[in-house]
Amino acid sequence: MNATRRDFLRIGAAGAAALGFDLAPARAEARALKIARTTETRSTCPYCSVSCGVIVHTAGDKARNAKPFVVHVEGDPDHPINQGSLCSKGIALKNNIVNDRRLTKVLYRAPGTDKFEERTWDWAIDRIAHLFKETRDRTFREKDSQGRTINALTSIGVIGGCTDANEINYLMSKTFRAGLGVVPIEQQSRI
Ligand code: SF4
Repeated sequence: MNATRRDFLRIGAAGAAALGFDLAPARAEARALKIARTTETRSTCPYCSVSCGVIVHTAGDKARNAKPFVVHVEGDPDHPINQGSLCSKGIALKNNIVNDRRLTKVLYRAPGTDKFEERTWDWAIDRIAHLFKETRDRTFREKDSQGRTINALTSIGVIGGCTDANEINYLMSKTFRAGLGVVPIEQQSRI
């Protein structure tokens, strides 16, 4: 008989149950080991506007010379929105965080080419600032067609994500609306 490792475990579990052993404590212990000595960080699922609360378990961040890494993500039972539950997308959030295909560098595709070039974050910030200013200088409207003051910039839009707190949204409104005149400002949580 060719038995796989999974078959072996299944047969063993069935045999233990038949002999009257209670496997629940062993299962609970295995789960506890997975998150033993991890740091719990409360966060928000970034995928959709429901904004469910999650707990991210990180191992290794208390040890000297160890690089912290995420071992588990679960729903936050104390969160008022989801009360511990997550949908199938949210429950797979760890695979978003721990993923070697995750982009960690700036990739720039210049106009007229199909090739991406690696750039620095400083370069990207300067580029965004330059384009923002150039567009604002060119399209900002102080008056409407009837001469009324509007001080409006409608050629640039700003959108916030569902993980942004009230304070970030406040600063965003202050900076972009009050400071720069941007009219189209939206928030994922409202969509
Ligand atoms: S867990 Fe699902 S429903 Fe909740 S925020 Fe994430 S994607 Fe949206």
